[in-house]
Amino acid sequence: MQNLLALNWKMNKTPTEARAWAQELAGKLVPGPAELAVMAPAITLSTLAANLPAGVAFGGQDVSAHESGAYTGEISAAMLKDVGATYVVVGHSERREYHGETDAAVAAKARQAQLSGLVPIVCVGEGLAVRERGEHVAHTLAQLDGSLAGVGPDVVIAYEPVWAIGTGKTATADDAEELAAAIREALTTRYGSDADDIRVLYGGSVKPDNIASICAQPNVNGALVGGASLKVPDVLGMNDALK
Ligand code: PGA
Repeated sequence: MQNLLALNWKMNKTPTEARAWAQELAGKLVPGPAELAVMAPAITLSTLAANLPAGVAFGGQDVSAHESGAYTGEISAAMLKDVGATYVVVGHSERREYHGETDAAVAAKARQAQLSGLVPIVCVGEGLAVRERGEHVAHTLAQLDGSLAGVGPDVVIAYEPVWAIGTGKTATADDAEELAAAIREALTTRYGSDADDIRVLYGGSVKPDNIASICAQPNVNGALVGGASLKVPDVLGMNDALK
C-alpha cells in the first residue's frame, strides 16, 4: 500500500502564503514514494487547487455533520468536494478538546463526508494520563468504534497519541505499531476484507528524521504531520525518507 503523507497545516497560512508554498512545492517535488495530501484551512483550498503540482491531493481539517442549511460558520462536505478536495480530517484531538467533539459527532461528520464522496481521515489517540495507566489500547479502540459508527470502509485512520502532538515527543516505532496493529485488527472485524485497503497513519511530532522508521512498521501506512508540514524542505525530506 502506498504511504499517505497527510500534511495538517492547522490554523496556519493565509491564501497568499498557501500559494507561495504550493508554487515552491511544484518547483521542487519529484513525485515520489508517498501520496501527498495537504489538509489546509478551507479558505486556502481554491488557491491550492490552482497551484499544487499534479498528483498532490488536498482536503479540509473539519466538516459539518449536516448537509446544508442554517449552520452559521460551518463548511459542508459538498463545498469541500466542489473545490476539488479528496480528504477531510475529522475528530482531530484539537477539535475533540477545544470544540467538545464526541465520538458520535465525529462519526456523523465522517458519514456526511462519505456521502459527498470525500475520504474522511478519522483521528483517534489517547492522552498522557491514559497512556500512563496502560489503558491506551482499550481507550483508542473504544474511540475508534464510536467514531466509525455507520461509516463505510472508504476511510483513513490516524492514530495520534495526544501527548506526542506538537511536543517533540514521538512515540517509538514500536508504540506506533502496537496501536496500528490493534486498529487494523478492529478494522478487519468491522469491515472484513475491505479493511485490507484502509491506511492507518501515525501522527505526533513526525519529521524527516523519524518518519522512515515509523512508516517501516508493518501496519503503519503513512503519517499525519503538523509542525513539519509548514516548510516545503521538510515535506520534501519526509517524502524522500519514504523511498
Ligand atoms: P505535529 O502535529 O506533527 O505537530 O505533532 C500532528 C497533528 O496534530 O496532526
